[in-house]
Amino acid sequence: MTQVTLDKIHALCKRRGFVFQSASIYGGLNGVYDFGHLGVLMKNNIRNEWTKSINTSFDDILSFEGSILGSSAVWQASGHVENFTDPMVDCLNCKHRFRADEIDLNKACPNCGQKKWTQARQFNLMFKTQLGAMEDDSSVAYLRPETAQSIFINFKNVLSTYRVKIPFGISQIGKAFRNEITPKQFLFRTREFEQMEIEWFCKPETALDDFKKWCDARKKFYESLSLNQNKIRFRAHDKTELAHYSKCTSDVEYEFPFGWKEIEGIAYRGDFDLSQHSKFSGKDLAVFDEETKQSYIPHVVECSVGVDRLFLTLLFDAYNEDIVEGEERIVLKLSPKIAPIKAAFFPLVKKLNEPMETIYKEIKAKGYSVEFDESGSIGKRYRRQDEIGTPLCFTYDFDSLQDDKVTVRNRDTTQQERISIDAIEEYIKKVLK
Ligand SMILES: [Zn+2]
Repeated sequence: MTQVTLDKIHALCKRRGFVFQSASIYGGLNGVYDFGHLGVLMKNNIRNEWTKSINTSFDDILSFEGSILGSSAVWQASGHVENFTDPMVDCLNCKHRFRADEIDLNKACPNCGQKKWTQARQFNLMFKTQLGAMEDDSSVAYLRPETAQSIFINFKNVLSTYRVKIPFGISQIGKAFRNEITPKQFLFRTREFEQMEIEWFCKPETALDDFKKWCDARKKFYESLSLNQNKIRFRAHDKTELAHYSKCTSDVEYEFPFGWKEIEGIAYRGDFDLSQHSKFSGKDLAVFDEETKQSYIPHVVECSVGVDRLFLTLLFDAYNEDIVEGEERIVLKLSPKIAPIKAAFFPLVKKLNEPMETIYKEIKAKGYSVEFDESGSIGKRYRRQDEIGTPLCFTYDFDSLQDDKVTVRNRDTTQQERISIDAIEEYIKKVLK
């Protein structure tokens, strides 16, 4: 059994250029990360799979992309200005700041060993900024701490410009920002992150049913990513955990080495959001029901998953160490749909570069994410691809010149077979299904 740790995942991400600490040449910016080539390819795959899954689960899902800068009025109406806080304490000796709910204030500071705590204070997690040259209250804006509100405040814009009827959904993928007091566990809790979110607007009478349907749809999504289903669970919030406006909420949790943690929240939010924005903006956000001839505020079911968190989850789930031909290897057994590189092309020796490069370029021109690698032994090249999760490696050898076949090797089983060069694309397609 492979012991997968956060350190191993972090080291792999850095070594292979998936993720870098932001501003690392200047000592690094805490809780903020940059994504390299393989990281970007993998993130794109995650976004695509998510988009595909929500669009095939339900009809009438519209796309949306809200601004990151958010008007102060929005965050007052949503309650974030007042309530989006964590309690914090400072160590008077070393000036380190901690979340008051995460440390024992009866004990000494874990950083310097002295016990000189300030009182616990509420710390707002939103990043505050100014729009324009005036520095007064009227110019205050916030980097959005969640993507949902931009959907709620545009609900009527969308409804009045697109021919949809309740129920329908608005989906969004975008960045959000939280000034976490203690960012931790690498990509698990960061200050800048990306959300994939769907707000489903429905009639109050069908909302509970729709909530259940969304839970089922989201379960299928995690199955489709080939995640270890023993490490995935749906956990319903009990009454004490529920937000005051929520009728029910379920977290999708994954079992990390540091415990079961939320990767997605599915919440039935009632009519709270649209009602709040109606009240604060003075604009009527109700819709008219042609059947009952009555106006009502639609209810909302929300599904929200962090791209970075899912990225980390997929890496944890895929990470394996095993022995192949007496040699230790690290292999990411990622779903081929998520793997950043789908196939690699090797000429056995440099003398055979030309025919293999021609094949590689043909496949690449068809839009596949593939790599050509001519350096080092075949074994080394396999290891390199295993470590980044490439499902297939094709090798062109001297026999290929005669029989127009290549050897294809499977990442997980390390089994090899000979296939015709004409069949390469079909072979890749089949694995991607
Ligand atoms: Zn201290």
